[in-house]
Amino acid sequence: MVNKDSSSSTPASLRRTHRGLMLSRIQAEPGVSRAELARRFGLSEMAATRIARDLLGAEIIEEFDLPEEKSSKQRRLGRPRKGLRIYPKGVVAAGITVSAYFSEVSICDANGQTIARREISNSSFEDATETARLYSNALRDLIKDTDIDISRIVGVGVALSAKTSPDRSEIIRSEYFGWDNDGGQFWDEVRRNTGLPVVIENIANALALSEMRFGAAQGVSEFALAHVATFAGVGVVSEGRVVRGVTGDAGRIGHFRSHRRPLRCTCGRDDCLNLSATGFGLLAKMGMLDHDTFERSKLPVYATSLLDLVDNDENTVHLNEAGGLLAEALDPLTKLLAPQLIILSGTLGSNSAYFNGTKEKLNAEFGYGPDSGFRLVKGEVSPAEAASLLALHTFCYSDRLDFERLNAHASDHGKGAAYA
Ligand SMILES: [Zn+2]
Repeated sequence: MVNKDSSSSTPASLRRTHRGLMLSRIQAEPGVSRAELARRFGLSEMAATRIARDLLGAEIIEEFDLPEEKSSKQRRLGRPRKGLRIYPKGVVAAGITVSAYFSEVSICDANGQTIARREISNSSFEDATETARLYSNALRDLIKDTDIDISRIVGVGVALSAKTSPDRSEIIRSEYFGWDNDGGQFWDEVRRNTGLPVVIENIANALALSEMRFGAAQGVSEFALAHVATFAGVGVVSEGRVVRGVTGDAGRIGHFRSHRRPLRCTCGRDDCLNLSATGFGLLAKMGMLDHDTFERSKLPVYATSLLDLVDNDENTVHLNEAGGLLAEALDPLTKLLAPQLIILSGTLGSNSAYFNGTKEKLNAEFGYGPDSGFRLVKGEVSPAEAASLLALHTFCYSDRLDFERLNAHASDHGKGAAYA
């Protein structure tokens, strides 16, 4: 009790780390106490209390009385035990999803609930910087129109079909949009237009991180997420981190060798998984395309056609079969990674007939029964939500939380409540 406050001698970076860890735990386990947090992260109770007070003062978390049954066994003093939880309106996060399927800007609260969203009509993705300008302007308008206090927005997440380097804030390349390395221009355009911190991430990786924090992969540290729409890609998470590889190009499952088709992939081959287990392959097989080589100008056409296709029950057999083709690629992936979980996501991946096709073939042909050690599940997070959740993951539940900015803008009410 009378120990000198140890955190005053702790470097600022260590405090940021502890703040991020504690916030993450409070988000995952609402009602957790200061003492439990201290134990978990090897902090003194004084240090944990100090961080909790900071977060209370900045109106990022709130304290509440735990229900009786949970506290009566351990406490005999009559004083109700206090728990901590995220104050949902304390901070918010913004998202930009650049996709022919889910083209929108959005804002979510600190628990990941969408509080505002707006679809962006966009038919051309030709120029990366132009695209960045269109979406970031729309986000700025949405923030203005919804009267959201910009000082409470932790940052902007951008999710798109491109390989990116979030560390260098660059798009490495996008086969899908036809973009080369942009030297950070997309990121810079959004940052300048919104005045907020920005993180830019591949859609499969953004979905994987979102599922880990808010969805089907909570508490899971080894899993893969297959995003299947027009094409297919995989986000792999190991030890709670996205696996990127040396080039940042990891997860290109769409170019796994599969069956030969009378089609041409972006890479020039005719036997990529992208041509069979995907929307492009399915549309071609069903005679809904008048061309055999992937064309970027047709991205919106692929999207609308595939959305129509998955909506029609008559296509169940075809969807089932395409899902089965994905199983052929998930088998080696599973043997390589030994994941706890494989999540299917995207317009095709989240379709029941497609999902069942994958599941049945994994079971029947590759022997992955109920005891095979991993579960195949449908994603819980939509690609449109993934962008703002990515921003929460990056700028709220991490050491990158800009605590000083949030604290400076906390209301007097919050400060009073925290130190009462
Ligand atoms: Zn290919």
